[in-house]
Amino acid sequence: MINRDVVIIGGGSTGLSIGYFLSRLGVKDITILEKSYVGSGSTGRCGTGIRAQFGDEPTIRLMKRSEQLWNELGNELSFNFRQTGYLYLHYSEEELRQYKEMKELQNSLGVPTKLLSPEEAKDRCELIDISNVKGASFNPEDGKAHPFDVVTGFKEYFQKDELELQERTPVTGIQLKNDGKLKIINTPEESYKTEILVNAAGGWAPKIGDLMGIEIPVEPYKHQAIITEPFEEGSIEPVVISMKHENAYLTQTERGGIIGGIGTREDETSTYDMRETLEFEERISRAFGTMIPSLKYARILKHWAGYYAMSPDGNPLLGEYKVPGHYLAAGFSGHGYMMAPSVGEALAEVVSGGKTDLPLDYYDPERIDRGELREAALQMG
Ligand SMILES: Cc1cc2nc3c(=O)[nH]c(=O)nc-3n(C[C@H](O)[C@H](O)[C@H](O)COP(=O)(O)OP(=O)(O)OC[C@H]3O[C@@H](n4cnc5c(N)ncnc54)[C@H](O)[C@@H]3O)c2cc1C
Repeated sequence: MINRDVVIIGGGSTGLSIGYFLSRLGVKDITILEKSYVGSGSTGRCGTGIRAQFGDEPTIRLMKRSEQLWNELGNELSFNFRQTGYLYLHYSEEELRQYKEMKELQNSLGVPTKLLSPEEAKDRCELIDISNVKGASFNPEDGKAHPFDVVTGFKEYFQKDELELQERTPVTGIQLKNDGKLKIINTPEESYKTEILVNAAGGWAPKIGDLMGIEIPVEPYKHQAIITEPFEEGSIEPVVISMKHENAYLTQTERGGIIGGIGTREDETSTYDMRETLEFEERISRAFGTMIPSLKYARILKHWAGYYAMSPDGNPLLGEYKVPGHYLAAGFSGHGYMMAPSVGEALAEVVSGGKTDLPLDYYDPERIDRGELREAALQMG
């Protein structure tokens, strides 16, 4: 039996970031347990997008801080956070009005989003068909980072810092002692004794709850993405979004391919099935080809599926939950990658007994049991 100050379950962007910030605060005895390899969950399957363009104050504040930290982490962990901006295309007066309101809120919180004319939007990405576009929103500080560069950066930092990261190590059992204050965490090879357990298991967070006999209000929904053959460098710099066309988002990676996805259909139900569907390829081809006509002729090189780990109100669940010393960091509902730095920083502060300036109360998981649902955060991208 190994004694640890903190055990984190899940080696995705959330668990790795919490581990990193705990170690920066001087917490030494940390173990991260990952059932497969780092980034094998939703993190390695994500669309790479990072934005502060949201419609509610807590999420904008969280993401403003996250973008600052993405910059710092990029320098420290040697990956590129490319601030190419996020370009939301608007196709109606109603969309323009709604995004103008959001822009004003974002500006009041220090996020420099601008409204652009269709021609200015085309200046940002020449390939866009603007014939039906009425305007766009653009925040130059938004951007993208390659998830495997990011998780590799964390992994190398942990090797230097001697933080224990165990891959291929599934948590198979949890015993609660002393009213849950003490937790014995079992894996096939080893058992860990800790008072603080962080559940950062993404779409599998409820299964970790089952091991403790508690229900966790997170449900996995299949979300698919593709990457095309490489395009000429600089073809699609910003992340381009159209809520009108299937909630589609796309951008060019550093390797040249166009990566992107579309929204989950409303009639889809929660599932652990990760198989790709042909129907998705038809829908995404139509949406991408309408936004950017040259994409009609692009070949899809790879197509994959992962999870959006949905909470009941479409906002993350962050904080101590149901068992003393059990911290939940899950239910990101499609934005967990971009939030990982600020969530990691804030939870590390709280878990190590300190305070955070970030609005963690808003994301208190107990709100669900109290019936205090928040307005869903703006979803796509
Ligand atoms: C196609 C797609 C596109 C997306 N695009 C974006 C985007 O552009 N921007 C954005 O911010 N978000 C995006 N998301 C969402 C984002 O990927 C997730 O919110 C984020 O990666 C969640 O990270 P996580 O670390 O919480 O979970 P995960 O990355 O899923 O990590 C959880 C880890 O826990 C491990 N685990 C589970 N059970 C156990 C166990 N019993 N024992 C040990 N380990 C266990 C898993 O193996 C996994 O590695 C996208 C998601 C998908 C699927």
